[in-house]
This record gives sequence, structure tokens and C-alpha cells, in this order.
Amino acid sequence: MEILMTVRKIASICTMGANASALEKEIGPEQFPVNEHYFGLVNFGNTCYCNSVLQALYFCRPFREKVLAYKVQPRRKESLLTCLADLFNSIATQKKKVGVIPPKKFISRLRKENELFDNYMQQDAHEFLNYLLNTIADLLQEEKSQEGQQNGKLVQNGGSGGGEVVVLEGGGEEGGGGGGGGGGGQSGKETQQTWVHEIFQGTLTNETRCLNCEAVSSKDEDFLDLSVDVEQNTSITHCLRGFSNTETLCSEYKYYCEQCRSKQEAQKRMRVKKLPMILALHLKRFKYMDQLHRYTKLSYRVVFPLELRLFNTSGDATNPDRMYDLVAVVVHCGSGPNRGHYITIVKSHGFWLLFDDDIVEKIDAQAIEEFYGLTSDISKNSESGYILFYQSRD
Ligand SMILES: [Zn+2]
Repeated sequence: MEILMTVRKIASICTMGANASALEKEIGPEQFPVNEHYFGLVNFGNTCYCNSVLQALYFCRPFREKVLAYKVQPRRKESLLTCLADLFNSIATQKKKVGVIPPKKFISRLRKENELFDNYMQQDAHEFLNYLLNTIADLLQEEKSQEGQQNGKLVQNGGSGGGEVVVLEGGGEEGGGGGGGGGGGQSGKETQQTWVHEIFQGTLTNETRCLNCEAVSSKDEDFLDLSVDVEQNTSITHCLRGFSNTETLCSEYKYYCEQCRSKQEAQKRMRVKKLPMILALHLKRFKYMDQLHRYTKLSYRVVFPLELRLFNTSGDATNPDRMYDLVAVVVHCGSGPNRGHYITIVKSHGFWLLFDDDIVEKIDAQAIEEFYGLTSDISKNSESGYILFYQSRD
């Protein structure tokens, strides 16, 4: 498989120009979507983890639109988001329909901002996605609170401010300290909703039932992407169901019950309470093997459908099942997290495209099955779905 890929790559590099026009020809002038651009991204030395995620996000339309809208706002000082907006804008405003773009400014900004990515080693695409979304959300929150301060009104009460700002837990300090409270972390005191949250944020709820007094305590947890365990020969629906499986906490894992004021056996269950507009699903394919002292890849075959019905597990009748469409898949090729290669398949205007750094190809919908994983000999190299992006129909 790896040899095959290398051959494909070399062949494509030799005929890069011809390849681009071949894609245009294959789609056809009549079929080629108006105002759409299919541009490969140059690899700056193991930056496919970044290129693959950027392509997937570009084809998450609500996200792309917000990033492009950010571009036309008054100029701010350079950040990862301004670099991303410049990159998306340069793709979206190309005269040509197909071609290659070097995401140079974005990569150098990324390397400047986070030492984890400041090298030429292969990185984990999921880690990068998580970092990117959180960084953008933080930047937007910071801008919002600065705007709020400039307008002379405090944002935390939400009352007359058009309802755009949602504060989950009030009680923000009014002191002038610009830096904000020291809390930080995921469960910070106040979470202002930004468009990153509007698009990607869902809520999990963690319920624990004490088996002695039957008291149930629940705790909500927001997520921007969901990580699920994988098993051999399963489906995404199965992986998601595994999430809600009841787990019994006993012996050394007993739970401290506030009612009983002591450690008790308990049942724990995790549910998706609120589904996001775009569900980014991370398949936990990299597992640390104690015997081997390293991460290994689980190339299990996990079927991901083009259409996904997500059942409502919250027991709330006002929130019916939702239909989701697969819009992008980041695929890992190879045998481990720090080796191998990442590519992306995306759906655009009814057809599927494969982005392999600077190469863009049209593929058949049936070809997606090749990225489910392997039914046997999972220690072999595989090209398998790693991060799936499902977009809600409504
Ligand atoms: Zn109890």
C-alpha cells in the first residue's frame, strides 16, 4: 500500500500541471461548481497532518463561511486565525478552479505559536485539529470581551445585548484586570459562545447513580470533537453506543457519594446531551501498548456511513433524531502516529475528492469503503478513516 502511494505521488509530481487540468477535465466545465476551488496544499516537510485537517475544515461549509467573513472584518494583529482566514481567502479568490497553494504563512505562524508543531516531525492530526479549534475559540472570546469592555457594558449579563453572548455560569469579576480570571482550562468560569462553539460544540453528560442510596449526580461537559474507542468489524453507530454503556464503579474505583458521605459502588453512564451542528468524530486508532513501549495503530475496520442517523439519548422528546451527512474524512495511512501520512476525502457539490497534499483527485463514492480499515492482519499498514466530519441536515 505504501509503495503504491509513493508511486502515485511521484507520478503526480511529474505531471502536476497536467494533473490539475485533468481534474478540471474530469469534472467537466458544465459540472464544475460555480465559485468553487479545488486547491492542493504544498507540504513543508511532514505537514500533511496540518494540510489534511485544513482541507477537511475548508469543506465544512459553515466553518469556511465564518472564516471568510472574519477575513473582511477590520484588520487585527496576526494570529493563527488571521493566517487561516488569509489562506481560505486565497483559495476562494483564485482565478483558476484547480491548482496548488503553499500554506506558508499559516505553517510558520503555527510553528511560532506552539513548540509541539515547531519541528519537521509527523504530528497527530487530531491533536492539531483540537489545538486549532480551541485557539480560534479563545481568540474570538478574547475579542468579544474586549469589544464588550470598549462598549462600556459588561457582557456577562447578556440581558440587552441581543442574546448573542451566552454565559453558562455567571459571576464574572468586574475588576479592571484585562487578563481575565486565572481559572482557564476547559471548565473555565464563563464560556462565551463563539461561532466555533455554534458549529462544533456539543454537550456530554456524565451520570453517576449511587447503588446504595440511588441518588443520581450528573455533570455536563462540552466538547468540540468526540473521541471514540474502536473495535474490529464495527460501525460508527456501534462506537457511539459504546459511549453510553453503563459502567459499574466498584472495589478500588468506588465513587464518593455526597448523600452517603462515603465511598459507594455506583453506575456511571455517559450520554450525548446536545449534538453539534458539525460532529467531528475522532477514532482512537492509536493505542499505547505497554509490552511494546510505544503507540501502535489499530487498523480495525470501522464502517462509517455517508448518512448517519444520530439517535437522541437524552430522553428529551423535543429533541428528535437528527440526520447527518458525511462531509470530510481525514485518513491516516501507515502504521503509527509518528510515521505515515495523512490525506483527506471531502464531499463537494455532490462528488467526492481526495486531497493528498498538493494532489487533488476525483474519486467514486464506492472508493470510500477502502478507508474503513482492515478485516484481518491489522498490524499491516492501512489507509483508514481517522477523523470524520458529519454535518447536520438542519
Ligand atoms: Zn449514596
